[in-house]
Amino acid sequence: MRARRDAAIKLLKIVMVASVALPVALFSYASWVSYKSAVVHTDEQLGANLDIISEQANKIFQSIDLSFASLRAIVGDLSDDEIRAQEQTLHLKLRQLDQVLGAIDALAIVDKNGDALVSSSIYPVPRDLNVADRDYFKAHVQQDAGTYVGEVVTPRVRPNTLFGVSRRRAQNGEFAGAFIVFAVPKIFSDFYEKLALNQPGTSLALARGDGAILARYPAPPGDMTRFSPTSGFRTAVNADPRGGIVTSNNSIEGVQRRVGYRPLGYGNLYVSDGRSTSQTTMDWLSGLSVHLIFGVPATIFLFTLVLLVMRRTQEFYAEAERRELAEQSLRQAQKMEAVGQLTGGVAHDFNNLLTIIIGNLGIAKRGVVEARSERALDNALTGAQRAAQLTQRLLAFSRRQPLNPRAVDPNRLIVGISDLLTRSLGETVQLETIGGAGTWNVEVDASELESTLLNLAVNARDAMPEGGKLTIETSNAYLDEQYCRHHEGITPGQYVLIAVTDNGTGMSRETVEKAFEPFFTTKEAGKGTGLGLSQVYGFMKQSGGHVKIYSEIGEGTTISLYLPRHDSAEAVVADDEPAGSSRGNGETILVVEDDDGVRQYASEILRDLNYQIIEARDAASALKLLDAEKPFDLLLTDVVLPGMNGRQLATEIEKRRPGVKIIFMTGYSRNAIVHHGRLDRGTELITKPLIEGVLARKIRQVLDGPAPKPLE
Ligand code: ADP
Ligand code: MG
Repeated sequence: MRARRDAAIKLLKIVMVASVALPVALFSYASWVSYKSAVVHTDEQLGANLDIISEQANKIFQSIDLSFASLRAIVGDLSDDEIRAQEQTLHLKLRQLDQVLGAIDALAIVDKNGDALVSSSIYPVPRDLNVADRDYFKAHVQQDAGTYVGEVVTPRVRPNTLFGVSRRRAQNGEFAGAFIVFAVPKIFSDFYEKLALNQPGTSLALARGDGAILARYPAPPGDMTRFSPTSGFRTAVNADPRGGIVTSNNSIEGVQRRVGYRPLGYGNLYVSDGRSTSQTTMDWLSGLSVHLIFGVPATIFLFTLVLLVMRRTQEFYAEAERRELAEQSLRQAQKMEAVGQLTGGVAHDFNNLLTIIIGNLGIAKRGVVEARSERALDNALTGAQRAAQLTQRLLAFSRRQPLNPRAVDPNRLIVGISDLLTRSLGETVQLETIGGAGTWNVEVDASELESTLLNLAVNARDAMPEGGKLTIETSNAYLDEQYCRHHEGITPGQYVLIAVTDNGTGMSRETVEKAFEPFFTTKEAGKGTGLGLSQVYGFMKQSGGHVKIYSEIGEGTTISLYLPRHDSAEAVVADDEPAGSSRGNGETILVVEDDDGVRQYASEILRDLNYQIIEARDAASALKLLDAEKPFDLLLTDVVLPGMNGRQLATEIEKRRPGVKIIFMTGYSRNAIVHHGRLDRGTELITKPLIEGVLARKIRQVLDGPAPKPLE
């Protein structure tokens, strides 16, 4: 059961973990895949952008190449002086060309000193207009630099920024100046801006391999005109001038980005395209959040479901366990009941036999004069009396001993016997009694309770051979429905708990389970009878109480006695039998007893005590005697009789002879007169086996006492 439950719970726990772990794992995997694809997508976009902007640049530079060709065609082999001479005509031609080509701001020709000869934008050119300090001029002085693209400058004659593209001018193989085409960076950056409109975090640029920026969107801050040598672009170009895509730390915006660059194949120019990686991450995350919106509630739902199933399973098993415990306790109770029936039956018959033996031994003793025979009879009598004690204990276990429950103050009772307990415990065991304040009275047979406590003390002493401590503690207790459901045969209500605790050897589980069974003992032969706890058990059951063992090997044992509360406040602990003469004065006694031996024995004693005896073996013959008007002073009747029982007989006789005195004899109590083993108030009872002295006293006491109350 426990193993099955543990297995089920374990499985559910695994499912519970899986219900979270699996979606998390799946989600992680999906995220990883989608991150990868986001990165790939970024690179694809970078590539696509580079295609577009290099296409645009190529077109513009093609038209610039075209204008160089036109410039050569227009000026032909004209010398500087001839150009100056025809400046106006040439200026107009150049202006026409300039207007055709939209990307071009101006065209100009300079001589070998950098002095302007003609320009498309101004006529006449100022005499002092010199470009000798510009890079697009200087590049051609020493050698033919081919097509040279200069840095962005603010021209001296116009307000907007430009960059010059130049070619060497030669005359007779000698350096003669340069042809210059001025392009407008804004044309590029405007185009880039449009392209980047739907791509947040994107920057596009046109730059020279040495870092000079010709155009960029977004515009570089302040006066920045070139990428620093450590910039992503420059490092990438240095590493591989053929172009590619790299991840770098951007030197302008200061963020990490993915940068694509590609050579244009024109004057060491590159187009580049950057995108911040955080932008990629953000795009990726916003994609993920869509998954999360559905995934998280589904996972929570699944988890809660499994949690619920687990709770249910736990409850189910707890319930099953409770039921099993209750069944176990019922089985145990039934077993005790069966053993009790058996023991009770045997003990009852035995008791009658012992009555005969003890009685007759007593009679025989009176007639004996020889000392040896008398000793033998004494020994036999002692043996028989010990046997009687034993049957008494068996009857106690089978709940058939006559009890006389009264209101008892448990604390006072314990104080009353603590001397006796201390003596029984010996010197090595210390006794401590803790009487709870305001402890209720209990309804119990006081002397039986005393012998129970003595019994427990003796067990405790045996469990503490090296000495120790015995604690007897009282407190009020309420046994609730829940508790009673798990313990067979107890009704919920108010009880007083008397807990007897030792710090001895303790008991194993098996010992606890068997401890109440009669003749169960772990003690060596001769030391234990195995009847102590069974007697306690029977007594507690018969008293409407409950006994429970708590024990821990090596720690000690607590025996908890629960006794039902008595509702009256005043309590009596014990009262002694009244002393006095116990012989008869010739009164007549009607003895009704079905067991011939017992009847004859009782009659014999009573005759010896000076009583007249009428005998009857059952109720019917007793009533016949009554019909015959036989007078008598006292009815001594057995309780269990064939046919009409003693109780019914008594009621019958009461009717005919009101006020007649009656004493019941009983070896056990399971019958009409002693309801559930408890004496009816006012009923006179004598316990078998009959002891001469006790019988004599009881009869005297009843005869001398007041007229009895009518039987109920
Ligand atoms: P007996 O004392 O004659 O053996 P009991 O019915 O009184 O018979 O007790 C039965 C068994 O229960 C004992 O043999 C012992 O093993 C165990 N037992 C009873 N009381 C205690 C205790 N206080 N500590 C340890 N074991 C105990
Ligand atoms: Mg014992």
